[in-house]
Amino acid sequence: LLLAARPLRALGTLNIALQEGLGGLQRVFDVIDEPVAVAQAPDAIDLPPGGGDLRFEQVTFRYPDGRMGLEGLDFVASPGLTVALVGPSGAGKSTALSLIPRLHDVSGGRITIDGVDLRRLVLSQLRDAIAYVSQDTLLFDLPVMDNIRMGNPQADDEQVRAAARAAAADDFIQALPRGYDTMVGPGGQRLSGGQRQRVALARALLRNPRVLLLDEATSALDSESEAIVHNALTHLRHGRTTIVVAHRLSTVRSADLVVVMAQGRAVECGTHDALMDENGLYARMVRNQAFTL
Ligand code: ATP
Repeated sequence: LLLAARPLRALGTLNIALQEGLGGLQRVFDVIDEPVAVAQAPDAIDLPPGGGDLRFEQVTFRYPDGRMGLEGLDFVASPGLTVALVGPSGAGKSTALSLIPRLHDVSGGRITIDGVDLRRLVLSQLRDAIAYVSQDTLLFDLPVMDNIRMGNPQADDEQVRAAARAAAADDFIQALPRGYDTMVGPGGQRLSGGQRQRVALARALLRNPRVLLLDEATSALDSESEAIVHNALTHLRHGRTTIVVAHRLSTVRSADLVVVMAQGRAVECGTHDALMDENGLYARMVRNQAFTL
């Protein structure tokens, strides 16, 4: 129960929730006996059209136990751009991600998507607009096809295959003993880490989300898988906003904006090159090899 309160674990449950819609999240919270902390406004409005313009405005967040998660976080993620959140452990990166689908609500300030405060929106529409790919994706002991389709239960087989191709997963899936009908084993253990991640990307792509949230793996994938995943991520970025908690220097370097967090705030903001010139915390992190190469 304690573990379930951690944001990373909460985001893990979100993985299921986002696949199943709000009902799924409700069920997960029922199971762990924890009330859903957020409520939909009685006069909630529809998510307006837009490209996923996401703004954190002086966001503070205090955990129920009184701990400060965020202390005035400010940044803008413009449509089509990729924003990398970096910073020391405990800086609030995961907390910031968890506020976007409203796993918790801000304690102060606000977050807007396409101009509207998240708290004014129909909750299911907000969550439908977001996909989340975690470091360890939850796969179920079902055929690969079904695991990908969880991103969008209405998708037909051809749409599932198209998503797999875009995520560079189609080739390895076709090479499995029963292709798309292959059972992945409990937790997806019959697939390698890189394969699981590609299935997760296919699932996310099938959602065609306005906002893509990524929690980059710290553990080493083999270099081929890593290149493929990186490539797939680049394609997934088009036409949406991507926010990635980044651990790899290559990811940070290719981001349009790097937000350097410390103690719940953005202490530096800019491209890799600009931040290296600034010679502050980010430059120090790079010099001290805080990032996986
Ligand atoms: P890491 O890189 O280690 O994942 P992070 O930058 O993602 O770190 P967070 O996990 O967001 O940082 O944590 C920010 C702060 O909030 C830390 O002080 C942490 O102890 C605290 N915190 C995180 N989750 C909870 C929770 N569920 N209850 C209370 N405090 C929490």
